[in-house]
Amino acid sequence: MTLKDLTSHIEDIKKSLNSELEQVDQKELEKELKKFLEYGVPIEQAKKTIIKKFGGETIFNNQSNTDRTLISKLQPNDQNVNLLCRVISINPKDILVKGENRKIFFGILGDESGTISFTAWNNIDIEKEDVIEISNAYTREWQGNIQLNFGDRVNIEKTDKNKLPPEAFKPKKVKVNELKSGIGSVDITVLILEINERVVNVNGENKTVFSGIIGDETGKAQFTSWFDFKIKEGLTYQITGGYIKSWRGIPQLTFDENSTVKKLSKNTIAEDAIITKKLQIHDLINKKGAIDIKIEGTLIEIKAGSGIITRCSKCNRALRDNECTIHGKIEGKTDLRIKSIVDDGTGAINIILNKDLSEKILDKKFQDYEKISQEDAINDISKKLFAQRVLVSGNALSDDYGTTLIAKDIDIINIDIKQKSEKILQDLEELQ
Ligand SMILES: [Zn+2]
Repeated sequence: MTLKDLTSHIEDIKKSLNSELEQVDQKELEKELKKFLEYGVPIEQAKKTIIKKFGGETIFNNQSNTDRTLISKLQPNDQNVNLLCRVISINPKDILVKGENRKIFFGILGDESGTISFTAWNNIDIEKEDVIEISNAYTREWQGNIQLNFGDRVNIEKTDKNKLPPEAFKPKKVKVNELKSGIGSVDITVLILEINERVVNVNGENKTVFSGIIGDETGKAQFTSWFDFKIKEGLTYQITGGYIKSWRGIPQLTFDENSTVKKLSKNTIAEDAIITKKLQIHDLINKKGAIDIKIEGTLIEIKAGSGIITRCSKCNRALRDNECTIHGKIEGKTDLRIKSIVDDGTGAINIILNKDLSEKILDKKFQDYEKISQEDAINDISKKLFAQRVLVSGNALSDDYGTTLIAKDIDIINIDIKQKSEKILQDLEELQ
């Protein structure tokens, strides 16, 4: 804090002291205030304490609330962000910075307008469920989502839990295709399509986590439950009080012991009502990712890195010049893949086909390409696939390079045949 900043705080203190004490020495106040700040006492707290010490009354209360921002109003690269919010989750993480181990914290904060994920680069003394006032945080955009950061200048103060009572977090009724980061607490009715459990280590304790896929008639999404609600595959549940977290653009419903999970009668959502949704590429890019969706478009480019490649035998990353970015020079294993771009007229997206799908769409075996040069292989792949119309399904992920669809299935659609068969059907109908 600069001396100029301090002066305005000292003016505040002076205003709060009654007149007979007004001759309190400016230098003395400055010294007192600096001492508090050096000990890490938050500025508002320090001011209140000094005023009390000199017999005054605080008249600048809630000053820090006047410029409070609602989470839903945050934009990327906001500076000096002040929030009043509840800690929805907080987790430590050990990372390596310039060869040194460092503990950072990440989690989710919420207020009555929505939620945001945060990262704290220094130790912070807050716990789940705390209501806190934050000043001087800043935002960044990370993989398409706004994220809050606590740097060296941040000030975090625990405050009265009633400042943000539970009623402020009234869950919003949503459908699966409306799930996205930042919408706050949700109330959603879904069919459990898949559930798996695994044990993870959280703060040195083993915890069972349940995750899988939920769906309704608008689409499918992933979920994670940190509590055993005895959820079963094939049944419909109303989940209230969950939050959305995103990973590489894919929104995920997260809930825990603070949420309510109610089993509904079996036929609330029929399994066949849930289809793999077909999206326009433009919408998919806007969404920054989604699981289990379909696109239809034209293959406009076969990219470098297609054909026979060598993968690291330890981590499966594609090797470059026989080197893995993690494991260095290493024996590899060969594989076949296709990296391409699909364009549907509304936008273009990267797609990746694994060996099985590459063999399927090329109608050739991996061994056929192993026999020929890489150049001949790429030429052959381009000749077969360039300008073909395809229907691709899979999961779309986002990173700084854009959105990529990891294909689960692909088919070439022959438009002529499709149109012809439609014509025949029409003719038949007219005959009837
Ligand atoms: Zn490796």
